[in-house]
Order: sequence, then structure tokens, then C-alpha cells
Amino acid sequence: MIYKRSSALFAEAQQYIPGGVNSPVRAFKAVGGDPIFVKEAKGAYLYDEDGNKLIDYIASWGPLILGHAYEPVIKAVIDKAKKGTSFGMPTEIETDLAKLAVSMVPNIDKIRFVNSGTEACMSAVRLARGYTGKDKIIKFAGCYHGHSDSFLIQAGSGAVTFGSPNSPGVTQGTAKDTLLAKYNDLADVQGLVNANKGEIAAIIIEPVAGNMGCIIPTKEFMTGLKKLCADQGILLIFDEVMTGFRLGKGGAQEALAIDADILCFGKVIGGGLPVGAFAARAEIMSHLAPEGLVYQAGTLSGNPLAMAAGLAMLTELNDRPEVFESLANKTEYLHKGFDTVLQEKGIPYQINRFGSMISVHFTEEPVIDFESSAKGNNNSFKKYFHGMLQQGIYLPPSAFESYFLNDALSYEDLDKTIEAASKVELN
Ligand SMILES: *Cc1c(COP(=O)(O)O)cnc(C)c1O
Repeated sequence: MIYKRSSALFAEAQQYIPGGVNSPVRAFKAVGGDPIFVKEAKGAYLYDEDGNKLIDYIASWGPLILGHAYEPVIKAVIDKAKKGTSFGMPTEIETDLAKLAVSMVPNIDKIRFVNSGTEACMSAVRLARGYTGKDKIIKFAGCYHGHSDSFLIQAGSGAVTFGSPNSPGVTQGTAKDTLLAKYNDLADVQGLVNANKGEIAAIIIEPVAGNMGCIIPTKEFMTGLKKLCADQGILLIFDEVMTGFRLGKGGAQEALAIDADILCFGKVIGGGLPVGAFAARAEIMSHLAPEGLVYQAGTLSGNPLAMAAGLAMLTELNDRPEVFESLANKTEYLHKGFDTVLQEKGIPYQINRFGSMISVHFTEEPVIDFESSAKGNNNSFKKYFHGMLQQGIYLPPSAFESYFLNDALSYEDLDKTIEAASKVELN
């Protein structure tokens, strides 16, 4: 494949945009080479500026769970745009989406819409602090909760890829209120809670992690975390920006059978437009302005185009829950296919999978946390990534990212992908 025009566009972009991109992982730093500029996309396929067709396994990092340019979503956005794109006044469709989201997700009464997952997570933490009157939070190494200051402490994916787990610009004062624990290690969390008795407002976690590859929590870890929070008056925040409306109607709460206190959403809930949200029981949400004192606001929050896309997307998922099973089946098929072809290569690898999230790690040990994920052989990963790309398969350009399958992928696409993996040179 030839990427002449993409490379030229990247060179030009770099003159005007830092690093040529508006979000770092897009720049291919972890895998080398120039990023691909996309021209358009439909269903499971990306069409780039050089006319190459690629099978897409990132789906805009998750939102496009039904494939690109999904007709009902596009139609909803176009219809809405004709009636005006922003008012700064309440609209009925905000309640429509809120009502539907609350009906699909267990354990929440009210939801507040924002514009990104980052906003959702930072607002959720402010709410938790305002509600509990405590300052500290616990996050897990390798979990990403957006780029707000409190979370840029060993933050997974982009931040890890660039070897800057702590970003310059995050103050010591902010960093000291974020305590770092090991994923899947309850004793570690217990130790932090004991050492900071009565000071912890919230524990925030990706209930199935996707920002250090796909990492599955053990049952003991999750139930232990839940109990610890309940015993200590700590709020449990599930960052479901990735897992929400992807692992099922009820997201990770439903899939893991664990209730959290506050939930964060993004990605799928916006159907490909900029939407984030956070939600909880009414008793917690009532602390939010204008009902309560915890301030949070947004000029474009609840934007009609974004709400229209989100509503069309969640309506489809609500009406056709079999989509989640179809996606899980496709992901399992891919897993088995990869197993067959990778085993023959005689190099160590691990595949982690949950629902429609999956990741391949070139390492001998099971990948259960950030440390074990970071042991993956990045040289093999680079060869794998570029080898697949040469054959028209677009995988996440970092070993710390999960794939996100979309339901437009056909079994023929999956077979092509497995076939491509069989041909990749990894040694
Ligand atoms: C993507 C992501 C975020 C950040 O969302 P943005 O919309 O990129 O700000 C937060 N948490 C998790 C788990 C994510 O995957």
C-alpha cells in the first residue's frame, strides 16, 4: 500500500498543529511511520486519502459500535442540524436521551451530559468530593480517565506510550490527592485506604480496562473493591466511557454484576459526536448545581446534534440487544483465529478478550495489570501492526490499546484479518 498523500498531509499538518494531530495516539509514535489520513468511512471500512481501503478495528476508539456512517445516526444528525445547531436553552431531546440511558443502565436515576469522557470523569470526581467532603482519590496504574490534571498519574494508552506518565503542568498539589494502586490487587488498595483513613472520596476504575490493552478484573478484586468502598464510605466510580453501551445495555455494571456509585460515559453514548455523561442515584446527583452546590456547566452540553446522534445510537442498541451477542461472537471468532495462526509462529503471546474488546500482547505471562502489560515486546508489536496495515487491516497503533469491534464487520472481514495475521513476520 502507498501512503504518499497521507504523508504529505501529515507534513503540512505538523506545521500548524502540534505533532500534526489533535490527540497524541493518532501520531503513530508508538509504532513508527506516518499516520494515515482518512477521507471517509462506511460500515467496517476506512478509505484513506491515497485511496486505500482498510478494515477498521478501532471504530473511532469505540463510539461507532454499529460501524461508520450508520444510516439512522446520520439521518438523525442531518434532520436536527436543519433546525439549528445550538441554543444554550433546554431542549426536549436532552430528556429523551437521559430517559433512555437511565432505563438501560442499572442503578442510576439521573444523568448529566457533557462533551467528552474527560469532562465526565473530572466532573464525577468533583461530585464525589463535594458529596463526601473528602479530597483524595484512588486510581489504578494503567487506567485512563481523560486528560484532566488529577488523572495524569500513570494514565495508560497515550500517556504511557509517550513515556510521560506524569505530564509537566500537573502541579504537585494536584498530584498529591491522587493515590495510585495496582489493578487486580485488592491488598494494594486496602493498604492505601488504611494509610489514608477517612480521607478518600472515591476510587475510580475502568471496570474492564481498555487503556493498557484489554484487562479483565478478577471477581474477587471487584467484589472486594465494592465492599471496601461500602465499608469506608468511599464512592466507587466506574469509568464506563469505553464499556458503557458496549459490553451490553447495562455496560460493565451489568456484565460484572457489580453496582457502582457514580458512572462515567462517553464514546458510544454520543454515536460518534462529542458527548460524555456522568450518572448516579438521585441522592448523589442532587448535589450537582443548580439543585446542589457542586458546580459543573457547559455551553455546548446537551447539544442537539450530539443528543440526536446519541439517541439514534442508544435506540438501536436498546431495540436490538442481540447486537451485543453478535459482537461478542465475532470477537471470540477473531480470538480463536488469532490463536490458531499465532501459535504456529512460536513466539510468546497473550490474548485478552471481554465482549467486543480484545488485545494481543507479545509476552509470556498473563496480562493482568499495567506492569504485565508493559512487559510486552514492542518490537514484535510494531512488526505486527505494520504487517497488518500493509495488508489493509487497521489496528490500534499502540500496544496499550484495546481493539473495538463494530457490528458492520463481516465474518469474511474477520477471515481476511486472521489470514493477514498468519502472514505477518514477527521475528
Ligand atoms: C476515551 C476514554 C476517556 C476520555 O474520553 P475523551 O472523550 O477522549 O475525553 C476516559 N475514560 C476512558 C476509560 C476512556 O477510554
